[in-house]
Amino acid sequence: MTPRPEKIERDPGALRVRPHLYDWNRARVEFSWAALRHELYGSPEGSGNIAALALDRHANGEAARTVALRCLREDGSCRELTYSQLAVRANRFANVLRALGVGEGARIFVLAARGAELYEVVLGALKANGVVAALFTAFGPEPLKTRLQIGSAEVLVTTTALYRRKIAPLRAELPSLRKVILLDGAPGVGAIADTEAYETLMEAAPETFAAPVTVAETPALLHFTSGTTGTPKGALHVHDAALMHFMTGRLALDLHVDDVFWCTADPGWVTGMSYGVIAPLLHGVTSIVYEGEYDAERWYRILEEQRVSVWYTAPTAIRMLMKAGRELAQRHSRPALRLVASVGEPLNAEAVWWGVEVLGQPIHDNWWQTETGGIIVANTPGQAIKPGSMGRVLPGIEARVVERDVHGVPHTLDGTDVSGELALVRGWPSMFRAYLGQAERYAKCFHGDLYLTGDLVRRDADGYFWFLGRSDDVIKTSGHLVGPFEIERVLMEHAAVVEAAVIGLPDPMAGETVKAFVALRAGTSPDAALREQLMAHARRRLGPALAPREIAFVAALPHTRSGKIMRRLLRARELGLPEGDTSALESQP
Ligand code: ATP
Ligand code: MG
Repeated sequence: MTPRPEKIERDPGALRVRPHLYDWNRARVEFSWAALRHELYGSPEGSGNIAALALDRHANGEAARTVALRCLREDGSCRELTYSQLAVRANRFANVLRALGVGEGARIFVLAARGAELYEVVLGALKANGVVAALFTAFGPEPLKTRLQIGSAEVLVTTTALYRRKIAPLRAELPSLRKVILLDGAPGVGAIADTEAYETLMEAAPETFAAPVTVAETPALLHFTSGTTGTPKGALHVHDAALMHFMTGRLALDLHVDDVFWCTADPGWVTGMSYGVIAPLLHGVTSIVYEGEYDAERWYRILEEQRVSVWYTAPTAIRMLMKAGRELAQRHSRPALRLVASVGEPLNAEAVWWGVEVLGQPIHDNWWQTETGGIIVANTPGQAIKPGSMGRVLPGIEARVVERDVHGVPHTLDGTDVSGELALVRGWPSMFRAYLGQAERYAKCFHGDLYLTGDLVRRDADGYFWFLGRSDDVIKTSGHLVGPFEIERVLMEHAAVVEAAVIGLPDPMAGETVKAFVALRAGTSPDAALREQLMAHARRRLGPALAPREIAFVAALPHTRSGKIMRRLLRARELGLPEGDTSALESQP
């Protein structure tokens, strides 16, 4: 292991494109939500409809003929839609809903892979003041049923195959579901009972739409959390979230009009909606919509051939690329790539350095949650990166590090280097407005003006945040409170380790002892010598109290569909406890 510097210094003046966030401290002082609101809505008190802001602003302006979406199919073919074409398609779908008698506030669910139609449906539904929820197509019937029921779905847009396989058998259990629209549905002969054919409806619908009034608090999006710590919650967001997506698209993802942007997140996860759909359209850039599954070679080809300039992905994807090896990466060029960002899970320092060495760009980690609706803490181009840190809190957002007393009341920790729970001063525009059907649980997230995130962090003297773990996963060992990621990050420093997860196991002496589950790089043999080496490395870096007592080598770790390690499942399996809600589990390793 070669020692690396703690910081990657950046000179904003030396970058190819001048970053929007040029001087962090100055931006934090000068930032004004009212000014940004003025810019987006035309007045300091303004508000608007997400779809109108994302499409009509451009369709009626200079970007009318800019390509909004470049959809790449798995078979190599491509379909492009300009801003004005997409605006017309969204209008048509808004009219379709109106013609079907679907009112404002109705819940419109989409169960479809990425593709132009998904954008048309989401944006059309938003335009009509419907509340949109997208679901992972890989979900089985049970998780689909739960989410459609929690959300009281009124309309479902899906494909014939998905409908036949997953929805039709459940239909009787979904009394609120009035309309099912099949994207590939054939009209007339052979049509499936109780469904509508998308293109038939679209052809009959007018190209202009007389939009209803949308105010800042009009409900817009329903996102289900990833289900990492328990049963997924349905977080409700409002149209004012657009202001946050606009701000973060500019300051965290540094979008400029001529960018080609690629967000790899699935639309069933909040990232796929906030940054796969909304933020890039608000900024009038061209989005790459890759309709296929992960494939290292194809992904590298997309970065090269499509001249992607800003790329937003996730640690699991980065780790998969790392696993695929440098050679593959080096066979491709990345002629336009200037910013790589990542969210969803801790990004270890090795991954950031891999970015520098292999992609030619450090990876910019950022932190947010379904509940925050948008990026809160970020590394941005032009600012120094401390590899392994999530970055600093964005302008316009106030974050605190707190400690709860025995009554659960949070107290702010004011030191220059503090560890505790991350809390946010409420009021940022994309803050969730409800957990659907769980008012009490929602209320419990707030204390006074603070929203408590449930994540443990360290804020260092320079204001950089370091993820320690989720408060649910915290381990109490020999009088120490330790976040799993503090240990995992050390294990991942070892060249043989691709991914690690640690849990606490009950112990009469220590309270809990640490057990680690480790996935190894391909070709590494999981033998006793390696286990000893890893143990020694952990003891040296962490001390005997925090080092794992046990290390198990596993082929893979259990992940949610959005790529998060489910530590609670490892713990339940280890202790023979019920596994709880596993609806979001990606696969059973
Ligand atoms: P559930 O709330 O159902 O348990 P979840 O919290 O995983 O699921 P999401 O809202 O998709 O659902 O994920 C947000 C969480 O992901 C954060 O609270 C944090 O724990 C983790 N996370 C997100 N970004 C980062 C990051 N950059 N570093 C570390 N952890 C992150
Ligand atoms: Mg959560």
